[in-house]
Amino acid sequence: MPTIDGPRLLSDLYALRKFGEYKTGAHRPTFSPEDIQSRHWLSQRLTDAGLTAEIDGIGNVYGLCQAPGQKLLLGSHLETQNHAGWLDGALGVIYGLEIARALGGGIDVAAFADEEGHFGGFIGSRSFCGALTDAEIGGLADRNSGVSLNDALASAGFAGRPRRQVDPARYRGYIEAHIEQGAELEDKGLRIGVVTAIVGSRRFRIMVEGQQNHAGTTRMAVRRDAGVALARLSVAIHDLFPTIAGPRTVWTMGRILIDPNQPSIVPGRADALFQFRDTDSAVLDRLEAALEDLVATANQGPCRITLQDRSRTVPAAMDTGFQAALDRAAEARCPGLHQRMPSGAGHDAQILSSRLPSAMLFVPSIGGISHHWSENTSDDDIVLGCQVLADACADLLRA
Ligand SMILES: [Zn+2]
Repeated sequence: MPTIDGPRLLSDLYALRKFGEYKTGAHRPTFSPEDIQSRHWLSQRLTDAGLTAEIDGIGNVYGLCQAPGQKLLLGSHLETQNHAGWLDGALGVIYGLEIARALGGGIDVAAFADEEGHFGGFIGSRSFCGALTDAEIGGLADRNSGVSLNDALASAGFAGRPRRQVDPARYRGYIEAHIEQGAELEDKGLRIGVVTAIVGSRRFRIMVEGQQNHAGTTRMAVRRDAGVALARLSVAIHDLFPTIAGPRTVWTMGRILIDPNQPSIVPGRADALFQFRDTDSAVLDRLEAALEDLVATANQGPCRITLQDRSRTVPAAMDTGFQAALDRAAEARCPGLHQRMPSGAGHDAQILSSRLPSAMLFVPSIGGISHHWSENTSDDDIVLGCQVLADACADLLRA
């Protein structure tokens, strides 16, 4: 079995954190100066590892192995959420770099641009999978600064370069290591998670139209209070969903706006964003049908409620053969301290799984914290995760 170099792995992760270092985390939004520097740094590290490095026209960084034979593609993303953690994304990329060095062949590395969605949704991995058009790129802009994606690519020096697309014949598959971003592994005293599937989500806007009026003179019997209608619908959803959801379904009404949101005015409008996630499309279908029924029932009251479809992603099943290889490797390195689990967060692997057999490995997040500068994983767990992935890669490339 290959042996990874733990101190070398950690020192590369520390070096990457220097780009946009913020407290113990990093602030590296997509195509910020620090992010662009980190892409060039990675490119040099991949070259030093004997790979042919390239940054393509969407900002994806690749390290390509020139030896013959099928490859495994390892990777994740380099950019971070604002003032966020040092391992989200970085872990999977630097694991790829270290395993390419440790195995000495058979590994390609990729850092997919903008997984964190500063400009769009999974633009780097979708570009690689042939699911991003120039027209869509032309319509995207940074959600904070408003700078267009094309301008950002031009300033970075990446505009006009070809966008590399996956050659499925080249690859045995794609494996992405990632921090768990939850506390399940830690709570159970486990050290490795093998992902079974990445959840799909459905997101809706709920719009309620009532009648704005005076809070003192409008009799209760004639009111069309949009705030009350939305509150009732929210309670109905939260009462019904537990009875029809799957064991790990989650649902969230993350934003509620009441208009005009004043103490002495009966609200004339209300607006909410609602989403639910599960790994099973049948469960998602059932919840969506139930939501439509609840809205239809609510519409028998004094207000008009409409449901607008905002976005949906399909659940992505991970390759069962890859899961088995990761299980075997984990059992050899940390017997009994690993489990299979779904991913509640989205990852590039859900995009890659449409073109290549794909899998994910999780390491524990201390306190379950992520998307925050204090995000962390113990050095021992970081090193163990890389060794387990290296073993599984060697196993899969031999098969
Ligand atoms: Zn991530």
